[in-house]
Amino acid sequence: MDRLTVEQRSRLMGRIKSRNTKPELAVRSSLHRLGYRYRLHAKNLPGSPDLVFPSSKKIIFVHGCFWHGHACAHGQSIPKSNTAFWVDKIQTNRERDLRTLRRLRHLGWHVMVIWECRIKKDRWLSTAIKFLNR
Ligand SMILES: [Zn+2]
Repeated sequence: MDRLTVEQRSRLMGRIKSRNTKPELAVRSSLHRLGYRYRLHAKNLPGSPDLVFPSSKKIIFVHGCFWHGHACAHGQSIPKSNTAFWVDKIQTNRERDLRTLRRLRHLGWHVMVIWECRIKKDRWLSTAIKFLNR
């Protein structure tokens, strides 16, 4: 299958599950400063979403471009070693993300995904505010 050692694999799994990443903290603090309040990593919902706004039934995910296979340059750069493993891994993550989105929407949640690469350059904050206020 692949040639990762047990140690590499456990480090990898740990990173996939990692919470409180830098982009996520940036999103959280910007929204918090504006007065938005949210629950974190709600385990009772599919995908344990990063930010949950229960009263308005809104959810925000902050996705790392590499792990979630974003269409940007960072998201499309696959490591040169263990390439097949990574392609498969990221494909699995993307499929899981799609299933999660579908399940959440089915449960009546409105979902927004903020990509890591957008946080620095783009107007993600005004988009998020529009999403949260609508
Ligand atoms: Zn990206």
